[in-house]
Amino acid sequence: MDPGAPVGYDGPMRSLAALLVLCFSLAEPAVGYGYKYVHEVLPGERLRDIANRYHTSEKAIRRRNRLRRGKLRAGRKLRIITSVPSRTRRRIRYTVRKGDSLSKIAKKHKLKTWVLRRLNHRLLRRRRTLRKGMRLWVVVEGPKPSGGVKGLFQLSDGPGYRVRDPRRGWGTFLAISRIHEVLGAYSRRFPKAPPVQIWDLSRKGGGYFPPHSSHRRGDDVDVPYVLKRQYQGKTKLATPSRMHLPRTWWLIKRFLKTGDVTFIFINRSLQRALYHYAKGIGEPKRYLKKAFQYPSRRAIGIIRHSPGHDTHFHVRFRVVKTKVKTKTKAKVKTKAKVKTKTKVKTKTKVKTKTKVKTKAKTPPHPRSGRPDGRRRGAPRAGRAARSAAALDSTA
Ligand SMILES: [Zn+2]
Repeated sequence: MDPGAPVGYDGPMRSLAALLVLCFSLAEPAVGYGYKYVHEVLPGERLRDIANRYHTSEKAIRRRNRLRRGKLRAGRKLRIITSVPSRTRRRIRYTVRKGDSLSKIAKKHKLKTWVLRRLNHRLLRRRRTLRKGMRLWVVVEGPKPSGGVKGLFQLSDGPGYRVRDPRRGWGTFLAISRIHEVLGAYSRRFPKAPPVQIWDLSRKGGGYFPPHSSHRRGDDVDVPYVLKRQYQGKTKLATPSRMHLPRTWWLIKRFLKTGDVTFIFINRSLQRALYHYAKGIGEPKRYLKKAFQYPSRRAIGIIRHSPGHDTHFHVRFRVVKTKVKTKTKAKVKTKAKVKTKTKVKTKTKVKTKTKVKTKAKTPPHPRSGRPDGRRRGAPRAGRAARSAAALDSTA
């Protein structure tokens, strides 16, 4: 959400990158569009610039604002919803100082002189020359959206997997440890299988990572499907016939088993193949229903359709936020102890004891000092749905 009436203008935006993101974000599932902005159109600004700025499409902006074709009117305020945090812009007053000229002021604010003139045309019509103390409208950029994450860990090669590009292999402690754990198990289960290449997680500091629209916080990872031997190294595109179903399914199932996965994005046709394979080998119906969106088209299940996921599946781990959990845990424990052991032990003793116990049970998270508080067992669709609302979409 954006306070005031931020107005946007396109700085030195790499339009190619933005366009790429655009293409990718169009292929996103409609999960969690979250960032709302109000954008005031600058003179000379095109809809394309605005769409790029917010990593959304012209079509989406037109639809939301009921825009007709044709020129955009400067000064118009557009409502924009996007899945990508974007830079805001604000219109503020600038007080003219001695020695100022329009071009100087324009330059200072990275505006074109004619744009500045247009922004202030009413005032400038009345007073042709600038005078000290005059108040002009200018536009200033908000801070760059960081979206960065501190304390990500770098994934390095391990049993069962290789990291395709370590610079793109930064993830949360949870993500890194689960990947390591799952692929390790994979290599023990299929000792003769070649190691799985792990594609992108996030960049070192997190944040915007083209061409992805997600992969910003270290909780996303792309894993290529396991292909049958004759296709390995020859193609990346997986089809139901090229895919090594037993191994791919085993891998996906193992990721689900961690209980720390909120989504796995898989193309619908591949999802179908995996679903029928899993059903064929006797996976319980209830489990399949929880795991797969297929055969439904509703927003259910952890494995969701998302176009573009025909070379890799995309695993999103849950966001680590366990501070509250530990507190409640500790409280419950203290209470229980006090109740059972009662008067004999002093309160302080009970407290210290519980502290030690909790620490031992849930090792503190190396980054934040929070325990990672993971849960084992079957993943729950409900949790996934809840986090879906809060999360950003994927590619
Ligand atoms: Zn991805």
